[in-house]
Amino acid sequence: MQTQSIKTVEFERPQMEAGTSCTANAWARVPAAPTPAEKAELKERIRRLLKEKEAVLVAHYYVDADLQDLAEETGGCVSDSLEMARFGRDHPAKTLVVAGVKFMGETAKILSPDKTILMPDLDATCSLDLGCPADEFAAFCDAHPDRTVVVYANTSAAVKARADWMVTSSIGLEIVEHLHAQGKKILWAPDKHLGSYIQKKTGADMLLWQGSCLVHDEFKGIELELLKKEHPNAKVLVHPESPESVVAQADVVGSTSQLIAAAQKLDATEFIVATDNGILHKMRMAAPGKRFIDAPTAGNSATCKSCAHCPWMAMNGLQNLAEVLETGKNEIHVDPEIGRKAYVCIDRMLAFAAQRKANVRPSGDLAKEQKLFAGIGPA
Ligand code: SF4
Repeated sequence: MQTQSIKTVEFERPQMEAGTSCTANAWARVPAAPTPAEKAELKERIRRLLKEKEAVLVAHYYVDADLQDLAEETGGCVSDSLEMARFGRDHPAKTLVVAGVKFMGETAKILSPDKTILMPDLDATCSLDLGCPADEFAAFCDAHPDRTVVVYANTSAAVKARADWMVTSSIGLEIVEHLHAQGKKILWAPDKHLGSYIQKKTGADMLLWQGSCLVHDEFKGIELELLKKEHPNAKVLVHPESPESVVAQADVVGSTSQLIAAAQKLDATEFIVATDNGILHKMRMAAPGKRFIDAPTAGNSATCKSCAHCPWMAMNGLQNLAEVLETGKNEIHVDPEIGRKAYVCIDRMLAFAAQRKANVRPSGDLAKEQKLFAGIGPA
């Protein structure tokens, strides 16, 4: 397996004075927790505004529990990025409010170019997206023209525009298996841990970009071993963006949705969870009475820029959600040409997922022929 050299990205420079690509600045932008009275008033305002604006709230499992509850209660959805993309595309609402990070808003816009996409804070980003600038990625692809380009959902629209396939963590393994079976060599970006996990599972020839998620990258194998000794009956649930030393100790490795399902189905009563701790809200709802413990990010080797919670996901709050619904600010725009190109790899994944699930559409390429350019703007 070949690898690209490790690069330094913005979020690794805590001394930066401006910009939310610095985690310290992102934490400083996290809305203050409202009082119970303020919270009730904000939730009521949001419910009313969603109706008035014919909008629907689409939230990720990692955002604040109040936003997740509001999304479900008002007919929106709380899910992983694959389901968020599908739900937003298929919902009839004219406005989607995406509570998550920027690449999720961009994906929604690419799939639904005629809808208005709003986000509570447009500066909520992702270390994987930051660590894979479009121009450097294009040069990397140019240097390896024989490879099929597979990118993770956590990338900018411009990076997706250069890819053959987009994948999420819930379907990446299956898609790479499918490509490997066709004899394809793969260029993978940006998450090195997920790429390496999939490479080992499939045996595919994968050239890996060296990005990482700052939340998952901080989970510590040695400290996890110690925690397991304290909780010998606990099952360990791990997201594959985590380092190999953590994945190696997992009872279940999977996407956020797959980990929630595992917490529900396994008969253990205690779980150690190596993913963003925003997911615990949904896990507790799905498996009441069970105990969930954060996997360790602390210990001797700790850096703790996140402490198991994404600073950019944390920038989504009730206050800024109400404000964008009221004002219509923070709209996501994607250059139509980039959107048109990025659509191809996203639609290919959705078609693959649909085929696996229900045998509805024969392939992404067929979907491309039928509706690829509809409503996306000039080629
Ligand atoms: S949790 Fe990691 S992958 Fe998800 S948005 Fe935050 S930095 Fe990106």
